[in-house]
Parts: sequence; C-alpha cells; structure tokens
Amino acid sequence: MNVIEKLNSIKTGEITAKENVESFIKVIDENNEEINAFLELNKENALKQAKAIDEKIANGKKVGSLAGLVFGVKANINVEDLIVSAASKTLENYIGSYNASVVEKIIAEDGIIIGLLNMDEFAAGSSTETSYFGPTQNPAAIGRIPGGSSGGSAAAIAAKMCDISIGSDTGGSIRNPASHCGVIGFKPTYGAVSRQGLLDLSMSLDQIGPLANDVSGIALALNTIVDYDETECTTLNWDKPDFTSVIEDNSLENMKIAICKEFIDVTDDEINKTVNKAINKLVDGGAELVEVSFDYIDLCLPTYYLINYVEFFSATRKYDGRDYGYRIEEVCGDEVLRRIKIGSHIAQAEFSGKYYKQALKARSVIRNEINSMLENVDLIVGPTVPKLPHKIGEKLTPMEMYAYDILTVIANLAGIPAGSIKAGEVDNIPVGLQLQAKPLDDLKIIKAMSVLQNTQ
Ligand code: GLN
Repeated sequence: MNVIEKLNSIKTGEITAKENVESFIKVIDENNEEINAFLELNKENALKQAKAIDEKIANGKKVGSLAGLVFGVKANINVEDLIVSAASKTLENYIGSYNASVVEKIIAEDGIIIGLLNMDEFAAGSSTETSYFGPTQNPAAIGRIPGGSSGGSAAAIAAKMCDISIGSDTGGSIRNPASHCGVIGFKPTYGAVSRQGLLDLSMSLDQIGPLANDVSGIALALNTIVDYDETECTTLNWDKPDFTSVIEDNSLENMKIAICKEFIDVTDDEINKTVNKAINKLVDGGAELVEVSFDYIDLCLPTYYLINYVEFFSATRKYDGRDYGYRIEEVCGDEVLRRIKIGSHIAQAEFSGKYYKQALKARSVIRNEINSMLENVDLIVGPTVPKLPHKIGEKLTPMEMYAYDILTVIANLAGIPAGSIKAGEVDNIPVGLQLQAKPLDDLKIIKAMSVLQNTQ
C-alpha cells in the first residue's frame, strides 16, 4: 500500500490513525536501537493527536490532507517541546519553543510528528557519522553509512519507521542519503519551502524537503509544505501545482531528458551502468534522450564549500553559550570546528573580496551554465552520488568526504529542484538516479519519478 492509499484508508476509517501510529512505534521500538534513526520520540502526543483525528473521522468531520500520516523530522528543524539538538552537544538541552513553518503546516493538515531524526552535526557532513549521538546505520546495507547529512531521515524511511520524513538539503543532504538508503528524496526549488524554524547551515543554499518510499508520499508532503511564507523573505509566491496530479502517469511523451558526460566521468562505472538502466526506462516511457555538457564541474565543490564555511561561521555566532546551550567551539566535533575556523579566517577583513566574493562570482557562472543547459531540455538525469557508501567508522579525509557531494551541490548552487529515486543496486547496495529541472519545474521531476516507479 503506498502512502496515498494509506491516507485514503485512514480517511474512510478502514485503518485508524491510532493503528498507524502504533504500528510505527512497534517498528521503532524493535529496531531503533540498532539503526539509531530517531534521537527523540513523541509517542504520547502522537497517540493523542491520532485519537483526535480518529474521532473527527468517526463523527464525519473534515480532516486535513495528511490525516493520520506519520512524519519524522530532522533534528535541525524546530518542533515545540522536543530537543532540537542538530545532533550537537552544543544544543543537547535546547528544547524547541515553537514549531517551524513546515511543522506547523504538517500538523495543521493532521500529519503526526512521531519524533526527531539523527543527522550530521549541524548538517555538516555526508555520512551521519559526525552526530554527537552516534552514527545511523544504513538499513539497506547494514554496516555502511546511510549517507548524510539527513541520514536519520533516510534510514527511518528505509526501515519503515514512518510514512514520510523531512530533511534539509544544503549540498545534497536529502538526495545523498536517499540514494544510499534506496528511498526517494526531493529538494524543491530554492524558496519553494519556508526555511523559517530551520537551524541554518548555509542559508543561501539550505532547502527543506521530504523523503518517502514512494512518489505519492513526496507529492502529498510537497502539497502541504510548498507555500509562500510572508515571514520568510526568500520564499516564492507562485502558482504552485498539485504535486499529486502526476503520480499515476506512465508516459513521458514530449519530455526531453539529458545526460551529461562530465557527471558520468566522475562516477564509478558500476554506478553508471545501474543508473543507465533507469534512464533507459525513462526513454521506454517516451522521453527523448539528448546529451549536454557542463564546463565547470571542477569549480563546484570549491565554490560550494567556500560559501558554506563563511555562511556557517556567521550562523554559529549565536551559539556563544549565552542564549543556547554551550559555546559551540568548546564542545563541537572536528568537522564543525574546521568550518568555523576556516569560515572565520575567510571572513576576516584582509581576505574579503579575495575568496568569498570570488566564490559568489563562480556561483553565478555555474548557475548561468546550468540554466543554459536546461534551456532546451526538461530534465538532466544522472547519478546522485558518484561512489558507494563506505563502511561506518572507515577513516576518510575531509576531501574524500566532500567528494561524495560533487553531483549534488550543483542544484543548491543553481537554486534548482532535484530529486533522487532508487535506480537499482550495485553489490546489493542501493544507488540513486538524480533528476534536475529548471527553477519551479519541480512537478516535472515528480512526473518522471512517477513514471519510473509505475513502470517498475
Ligand atoms: N555534505 C555537504 C556538506 O557537508 C552537504 C550537507 C547538507 O546538504 N546539509 O556541506
């Protein structure tokens, strides 16, 4: 049963919201110790909310568009009364005093928040190993990293601990773990979803988005969370589509999709082979395949990390030990400290104009190039992550860790929408197909993912 079918069964009373919550609590109780996806649970409130929804249904009252569906939320998004630690010791005692805009919307539509999910500390990572609360297991490849930084969000979906999870994606943090765990992850166009209530990693790149086991879950979540927010100046006021309108589609007639040689060149051969099979299915579905080229692949990681360091440094200045928890530099892990130190160095007066401004220039070059690649095609398709996830605990240099992100940072730098869906497996480990589109063409990605899913 997919997510939309479950929703309909709840609305007609075939399944109760309470049963839905209880069945997830059972799976979480059985497996969370091993998987370490959830950092904190909200069982009592979730059951209370489920009861209220069931009563409304029994009394024939109208319920919201997510009635009784169970959500997990990444621990860098504010949820009232839960510990929003961002998986850092810095905030281990910080209790959310309000609901982030996305959380507010989910609850208003009768979605149920079951708990907060593990992640890399302050979302700075690609493996979820930097969490102060220990690494998350990859349920699809036990012993390996789930990817990151939204590793808990992807693992909770792969381990069937909730219907939909919410993650954040600054340079791939939704798509990378979705790829490694074999689930679907979606990063909307920058500004389509309000970031109000998200703890910033790099505010000009951060975007909140959903993960689920099937496209209907992604579409339902988007229908709720994609919205203009007058309190958040980067949100877009646009005529948003009904994302569920394409989930039954099985034809890509009139759609032009492109592969990019430079994306293939940086990716392991076996991953390319598996991803190609998925691309062929899109072609079988009626899409026309063309080739595009991208001249700036080598520029992407340096540009991304430079911007990330500077913006993260500035975002962390509020963790000075006065208002929230501990002074960050005193308790954080190595990767967070590295970013703070380099960010501070770059931000110093004598360096201004030398690095950050250059990075912003490089960013517009990349953005222009990507937009012109997308001018005559609907989607760019290719691998999500260029290599397989490593074994938990294996020592990687920072550069090796950053190399995971080469294909995902592009969408954040360009502000475009991008999704990842399972293409297949290599050595029994899932690998993802990434689909990228023009700004506000999010629906085209949902459509192509639906076709892929429906023809499987
Ligand atoms: N891995 C990237 C980084 O460490 C992306 C993180 C993210 O998207 N939150 O910055």
